[in-house]
Amino acid sequence: MSETAVVIGSGPEVRSGGCLCGKVRFTVTGPVDDPHICACKDCAKRSGGPFQWWVGFPTPGLEWTGAEPTWFDTHPGKTARGFCPDCGSHIAARDCGGDTITGILATALDHHDTDPALVPTNLNRLAEAAPWLAQAG
Ligand SMILES: [Zn+2]
Ligand SMILES: [Zn+2]
Repeated sequence: MSETAVVIGSGPEVRSGGCLCGKVRFTVTGPVDDPHICACKDCAKRSGGPFQWWVGFPTPGLEWTGAEPTWFDTHPGKTARGFCPDCGSHIAARDCGGDTITGILATALDHHDTDPALVPTNLNRLAEAAPWLAQAG
């Protein structure tokens, strides 16, 4: 896990996010951990796209300010994925067993398109899922 996130200003980093319809809302406090893209078959199947853009935040700093997502046990007893039960937006991932970092879909964050801390540092299995992508840009 990366410890290289830069704290902006003197206070803790706080980011907000939510789903497409607004039912699920949350804030995360603390530095970004391991922003990456994952193109594993699970991520592709659940998202409906070739990959998902993940970023970790300290679990104690995660607060559900709207409804909490519905959790689906991707691997029962190991990991679960959270999504909005109304609009289906993918929001989060958590490991069963008290993980200190919770995975958030960067696209669920309100300012993911302008936040330099979220730029992926690892493109996990991207070529496997979308071999055409490198040529597409
Ligand atoms: Zn929703
Ligand atoms: Zn994955």
